[in-house]
Amino acid sequence: MRYFSSRDKDIKVSPSQAIIQGISKDGGLFVPESFPKIENLDQIKDMDYKSVAFLIMSKLLTDFEPDALKECIDRAYDSKFTSEEIAPISQVNDISFLELFHGPTLAFKDMALSILPYLLKESMKIQGVDKEVVILTATSGDTGKAALEGFANVDKIKIIVFYPENGVSEIQRKQMITQVGDNTFVVGINGNFDDAQSGVKDIFNDREYESLLSKHNYQLSSANSINIGRLIPQIVYYFYSYLVLLRQGKIQAGDKINIVVPTGNFGNILAAYYGKQMGLPVNKLICASNDNKVLTDFINTGTYDKRRELILTSSPSMDILVSSNLERLLYHLSGGDSGYIKTLMGQLSEEGYYKIDNLNMEDFYGGFSTEKDIDSMIYKLYSEHNYLMDTHTAVAYNVYEQYKEETKDNTITLISSTASPFKFGEAVASAIGLDTKDKDDFSIISELSKATKIHVPGPIDELKNKEVLHKNKCDKEDMKNIISDFLKVGELDD
Ligand SMILES: *Cc1c(COP(=O)(O)O)cnc(C)c1O
Repeated sequence: MRYFSSRDKDIKVSPSQAIIQGISKDGGLFVPESFPKIENLDQIKDMDYKSVAFLIMSKLLTDFEPDALKECIDRAYDSKFTSEEIAPISQVNDISFLELFHGPTLAFKDMALSILPYLLKESMKIQGVDKEVVILTATSGDTGKAALEGFANVDKIKIIVFYPENGVSEIQRKQMITQVGDNTFVVGINGNFDDAQSGVKDIFNDREYESLLSKHNYQLSSANSINIGRLIPQIVYYFYSYLVLLRQGKIQAGDKINIVVPTGNFGNILAAYYGKQMGLPVNKLICASNDNKVLTDFINTGTYDKRRELILTSSPSMDILVSSNLERLLYHLSGGDSGYIKTLMGQLSEEGYYKIDNLNMEDFYGGFSTEKDIDSMIYKLYSEHNYLMDTHTAVAYNVYEQYKEETKDNTITLISSTASPFKFGEAVASAIGLDTKDKDDFSIISELSKATKIHVPGPIDELKNKEVLHKNKCDKEDMKNIISDFLKVGELDD
């Protein structure tokens, strides 16, 4: 299995090279040359999470030795997940909530970022890389902490995280700035997530800077979902949950399901799409956005237009206008026309939009949820069914309600539940009617716990007493300088 650059098919790399590089040198994203098929799902329906992970990942990471891959999987999906099933399903009425937030940082990013460090280490071994790898990451809140947690104190790797100073929840910020580990660096940027993400992409595309780092024995890589090593582990839970539904008798082999995904950078939903290409029976992929509804507009009109103000919402991990992984989908939909993708992406960065004629998005449905609807969905599900969901999951739930209303489709549906409600405690507490005025996050969370009789998850409870270790802030223009400071790489004279 090789991976092509989405902007230039002549660039072909092995799986381990794709993971180490993170992003292709021409700015494109690595895409698999073909989709291996997973067949006879009925016969494997009793597999546990790790076995499904091995089945899927071994087909996509073909240059990994089976035993080495197994070890990566064993180390990642262990007791740091508080659910033995790793990704349990909660049934609420006719909806299956696939809970992806039982890992150490309480958001779905743990599903992939708990294994990425091991995949990267193994990739370095396969490629004989002797440089120190510097993971450069932009975060809308959840990736940062999950990546820090995964890479902290990993030998021969440094991790640098940029988060938008005013675009993350209080808990998300606390989680990041209290991170321990000598190899971790956390910086708040004076800007939004798109600023952080484009700043990071510019650094990846800076050949001069690359050679400066190289002279100091450093090589950059990415923990964002632009890295194929992030995407591949995410395919696993969609197959796994299908098998669970089979086991429970909710569906019969071959039955199609709908999958609803609260979407920001298009990584999670793309993993579901990859699953479909690999043989997962999927009817509709329902792409749910918040008020930053670029994707809804794109799916419904064929025009992607980022020329609008970014709105800060109660689902900050989806406050994104440039949805990176859409590029991969467009590559596949265009039949692998990398020249065309290069043109589109050039137009997006220069003019702020692109339009695709005859766009075929029949696999998808796109919708969005307003702030008011998010609140009322949280309230409704809690008061009627005693199920507490976070703001991102509520976006998905709301868009699914709209979909059902519009289409009357009653296919069995899985909602990707992406974060613990306690991670966005203030918004969730006020949605269910608690008084949050003038209260700090920790007292709100403790009241939320009292009112709902759900324990505050350990990793959040512990935050209260943790020391702030990262106080760095910078402007977008200074990202490179601050990296150079961390790595102690001054400008070389030659
Ligand atoms: C990252 C994140 C999302 C968006 O996922 P993408 O893969 O970026 O589309 C949704 N919800 C939560 C809680 C997240 O952390």
